[in-house]
Amino acid sequence: MGDHHGDTESLRRLLDDVNGETFDFAVHVGDFTNAVRQGRQAAVRQLREVEPYLERIADRTRHDLVWVYGNRDYFGDFEYDLQVGTRIPKEGCVRVGGQRFTNSPAAVESDVILVTHMETWRLLDHFNGRAHLCGNTHLGRYKGRRLNSGFLQYTHRETGEQTFGGYFVVEITETPPFDVEMRCIGNLNRFECDRHRERGVQFQSAFEECMYCADSRILMREMTASAFYGLTHGANRGTVTDRMLADAAVDLWDEPPVEFRGQFETYLDGIETDRYAPLARTGDGKLALADESYAY
Ligand SMILES: [Zn+2]
Ligand SMILES: [Zn+2]
Repeated sequence: MGDHHGDTESLRRLLDDVNGETFDFAVHVGDFTNAVRQGRQAAVRQLREVEPYLERIADRTRHDLVWVYGNRDYFGDFEYDLQVGTRIPKEGCVRVGGQRFTNSPAAVESDVILVTHMETWRLLDHFNGRAHLCGNTHLGRYKGRRLNSGFLQYTHRETGEQTFGGYFVVEITETPPFDVEMRCIGNLNRFECDRHRERGVQFQSAFEECMYCADSRILMREMTASAFYGLTHGANRGTVTDRMLADAAVDLWDEPPVEFRGQFETYLDGIETDRYAPLARTGDGKLALADESYAY
């Protein structure tokens, strides 16, 4: 679970829903507060308000509630710290109930569960841990060992209207696919797109259809980051050509959608116009990691 942004009604709904059930762990992927929008003062109050609910969620577990802060929480840069469960460390691992957890991609080993708030696009097709749980985009998705938990609650900026999403019950087994159960506490829809099925099952309410069909940049960003990482990780290389990147991106599919390569090349041509692009153009026309890469 994650992303409720200071709201407690969603946690109350979740607690109602899990009444009588016990889980090995509860994992919270961050955005407990709405500090970025409402300020640090309000966020400290929000932390104190959500704490008793999180306490009761921890009570539903055999081992513990484990958690990380999100970007809306300024990644924990507060006067006050949550006094509940186990915070997953930014570096190295913590062992809870025999399971190791980390917040650091660098600390991942085959038996470790990675929990990050951001999606870290680069790891989508290149992950060697046990599972990766994340949030932030409010676009839930399950693929391989990766689950983005969508959102519990967000408030529309202009109208003040609240949308409630859901949480997931996952059985993490040795080999994927994992058993992933979506539990809705409001409005969360499951999509399996014929064209984009290989990129996972989606759980969201932002679009009336597959998020990649609705906004192809979502697909382009993650494919760009993932292909770039595949070409540069462990290799002695910091830049790539468009051609290399397009070949690598196509290779990430068993059967790429027919329009994919053309769409990808067009995206790279205009990559400077996408403020969330993971890569930027270098002086000699190649592509390198952008200075401010949103979720690389
Ligand atoms: Zn969020
Ligand atoms: Zn689609």
